[in-house]
Amino acid sequence: MNADDLALLVRAVPNYPKPGIMFRDVTTLFADPVGMKRTVELLADPFADSGIDVVAGIDARGFILGGAMAMTLGTGFVAVRKKGKLPAAVIGEDYALEYGTDRLELHQDAISDGARVLLVDDLIATGGTALAAVRLVERLGGSVAAAAFVIDLPDLGGAAALRDKGVSVTSLMYFEGE
Ligand code: AMP
Repeated sequence: MNADDLALLVRAVPNYPKPGIMFRDVTTLFADPVGMKRTVELLADPFADSGIDVVAGIDARGFILGGAMAMTLGTGFVAVRKKGKLPAAVIGEDYALEYGTDRLELHQDAISDGARVLLVDDLIATGGTALAAVRLVERLGGSVAAAAFVIDLPDLGGAAALRDKGVSVTSLMYFEGE
């Protein structure tokens, strides 16, 4: 299976979570045994022997991918969580949603000084979520060497915004629109 085959396993759900949004549902991709394995391989393989110290997955679908990628790459995994979920001391970053804001958090001791981080999520749209995660990693003394997504919605500009920050961005598939 190549990335085009994997794209056929992503379910499109119109008008979720609100009218006008085409939700790209990766649960159908993850539920397929070959789809799950190939997705992790294609996302992780470019980073073998690339000096990544740790994989950081974004709440919550980034955890499914990031744990498997960390296993493949032989690195640790850290969870970038929504507010209020991590038990020990945290730092937080707010980011904009269409209406209002949300907050991502990292444990204060999650990233070693100078660590090269691979950031992972299922999808990048406006990039607000990923950019908040980049700020968290940088505040702890790490750097996001690269960010990997299953899906990019290029019309929303998130990948371009990440590249402007010096982050190398890879995605397996691209869908037009929102
Ligand atoms: P953004 O911060 O705008 O880049 O949005 C990315 C986050 O929102 C990711 O965690 C995605 O899982 C989720 N997301 C945004 N738009 C969609 C969409 N059309 N389909 C599925 N997930 C989405």
